[in-house]
Amino acid sequence: MKTIVAKTTQELGEALSASRSNNTAIGLVPTMGALHQGHLSLIERSIGDNPVTVVSIFVNPIQFNNKEDLQKYPRTLEADLALLDTLELPDSHKLIVFAPSEQEMYPEPVDTVYHFGAIEEVMEGPRRPGHFSGVAVVVRRLFDLVQPRKAYFGEKDYQQIAIIRELLRQIKYPIELVACPIVRADDGLALSSRNKRLSPEARAIAPAIYATLSQAAEMALCEDCDEVKQWVADTLNSWHLVNQSDNMPNNLCFEVEYVEIVDGTTLQPLLSIPENPALPPVICIAVWLDGVRLIDMVKI
Ligand code: AMP
Repeated sequence: MKTIVAKTTQELGEALSASRSNNTAIGLVPTMGALHQGHLSLIERSIGDNPVTVVSIFVNPIQFNNKEDLQKYPRTLEADLALLDTLELPDSHKLIVFAPSEQEMYPEPVDTVYHFGAIEEVMEGPRRPGHFSGVAVVVRRLFDLVQPRKAYFGEKDYQQIAIIRELLRQIKYPIELVACPIVRADDGLALSSRNKRLSPEARAIAPAIYATLSQAAEMALCEDCDEVKQWVADTLNSWHLVNQSDNMPNNLCFEVEYVEIVDGTTLQPLLSIPENPALPPVICIAVWLDGVRLIDMVKI
């Protein structure tokens, strides 16, 4: 085992004490575990950038607004540690896994509430009340405990990146946010811990999400955003009718919760694609399939 596992804040402090006194750059990768290649891409990026990497593994209860989702969230610490052990580490690199209990993370009840204005009023925000505040609480706590120079987040959770950027602006911590591209399975499905909950039949059709978004990104260059959004919703919602096959269960269908085409920085819905935006506009989607809520996004 190359990694150091810290289960308490004290153990984490001890593991980091030498790095702190030398002012060594620390990279932080916050996760909720059930690690896959998407997480590993963030961790590898941090290993390349910093002499010390802290990977946190904590299923953060206060960011779940759905009890069942929290209960069903996979918790696979042993397998996570085994996967981390497969990483190639430079000899001098220190990889620390911080896997605290809930009591350790929140010894006191949490009463902090963060507000992020317009960027939380779209997409995930209204559908998951309290979610982003819960994310901000845990991320700030991790920032305080780890004091990283850089923190790594995946663009799969595109809105979350905008929220963390705004959090850093509000709390004025000198931490560089590194946004990392989505890692996909060979068939295009964005890797996610929730994919494990898909039945084989659902997993087989799930790549239609990315295929549809990719086509929509092309269409958005010459069509109104509202029309493209409607096309995405219609295409996926009627997918089971158009693509019927003998081995597909009758009730297996996509249910689009939202699809938005938004400015890459402000996350506000666009009517058409502007020329030379600061960040590329993005199409973001949340889709239910087989009782599992999947999210994805594609840049335009
Ligand atoms: P999670 O454990 O789902 O909270 O994810 C932890 C971090 O990994 C977040 O910053 C996610 O955006 C990122 N992440 C999750 N899935 C992927 C993926 N397929 N590609 C890139 N980053 C990902």
